[in-house]
Amino acid sequence: MAFEPTLSFARQKDAQDPLKNFRTRFHLPQHGDRDAIYFCGNSLGPQPKETEAAVRQELADWRHLAVGGYLHAKDPWLYYQHGFRRPLAAIAGCLEEEVTVMNALTVNLHLLMLSFYHPDRERYTIIMEAGAFPSDQYAIETQVRFHGFDPEDAIVEVAPREGEKTIRKEDILETIERQKDTLALVLLGGINYYTGQLFDIRAITEAAHRAGAFAGWDLAHAIGNVHLQLHDWEVDFAVWCSYKYLNGGPGAVGGAYLHERWARDSSLIRLGGWWGNDEKTRFKMEKGFVPKPDASGWNQSTAQVFNMVALKASLRIFEEAGMERLLGKSRELTAWLSFLLSQSQTGQIRFQVITPDDPARRGAQLSLFFPERGPDFHEKLTAAGIIADYREPGVIRLAPAPLFNTFEEVYRFYRILLEL
Ligand SMILES: *Cc1c(COP(=O)(O)O)cnc(C)c1O
Repeated sequence: MAFEPTLSFARQKDAQDPLKNFRTRFHLPQHGDRDAIYFCGNSLGPQPKETEAAVRQELADWRHLAVGGYLHAKDPWLYYQHGFRRPLAAIAGCLEEEVTVMNALTVNLHLLMLSFYHPDRERYTIIMEAGAFPSDQYAIETQVRFHGFDPEDAIVEVAPREGEKTIRKEDILETIERQKDTLALVLLGGINYYTGQLFDIRAITEAAHRAGAFAGWDLAHAIGNVHLQLHDWEVDFAVWCSYKYLNGGPGAVGGAYLHERWARDSSLIRLGGWWGNDEKTRFKMEKGFVPKPDASGWNQSTAQVFNMVALKASLRIFEEAGMERLLGKSRELTAWLSFLLSQSQTGQIRFQVITPDDPARRGAQLSLFFPERGPDFHEKLTAAGIIADYREPGVIRLAPAPLFNTFEEVYRFYRILLEL
């Protein structure tokens, strides 16, 4: 892609952008009399304007129908989860039966580990990335303890090499090979939240399977952000939250994927609840859990409608935009940011982009590492109307998102960066 570091170039890109009208579908935080430049959709996506009407609809159904809403609401609450399958299957690259919504990310990680991690004396190790998101670290550590194993012994972390910030694929593959006699599970974040590095999900999953282990993925930063083909890649299971790139709102219901091989396998152990039971017998109130033969067999409780409705509204936007167009714009927008950052490296501010330069190894996010004065610089960006976040140690994360960010915003960010 040939870029020119000018405002007119940015405006021309925006004019040609097939997704340009989608920005108007979102409420964006204000800075003075204009929209702030919101580069924080990787942390909390902004509110789609459709959300309010969708919430009002559920309130009205509850008000008018009360218990009748289970069957007669516009979206009957009894089958509320069903409506998520088609849009999420398109985003995750899987069959509709392989995906469901329930609970929240960390809870789902625990629930699926209970299905896929059954350590014994021979196979008990879990490979994860060093510097994983803390909630994932705590979940894995406590699961290991729950099974009576020692995290020091059972958790094998793959770290970047000395002097490097990201993890080499060959080091992950080599660790899997080395651990193959004891390996039970490979569990990584699809995109590392700190560096923005996208792992080769397919190759790592394949290697885990060759070693006789399961491969599970935390897709918090990958869902709705990068190309996923979970079914074809034979990923065993995955979990994600819906409040980052999916714009489902703070604490929105989490998502889960299970390969159909497992989704259909009622002998695979899981913790049951009535919402995961066969719908035909759910209300017979009889003994004997009969899980649904799909990912929703892992559901436990009645649909948390008010925790799901905003996501439902937001997924309509994804369906309209289409993943292909969305990812096409995302790659260009982030490449544009990367290009402008490389143009700005002459001034006094010293930073290093630690996210891989290769578009196949990243999503929307670029992480800027500041050896010093990161928080200081972050404060200045905020004062200038740029909403990004700071993560210890030393990183400012910028995530231009294709549904609502523009080429011009990225350019304005670059001008502000030069001034600072
Ligand atoms: C955002 C994020 C979480 C958050 O988990 P919740 O259970 O939704 O609070 C966990 N893991 C990763 C990798 C994340 O990026």
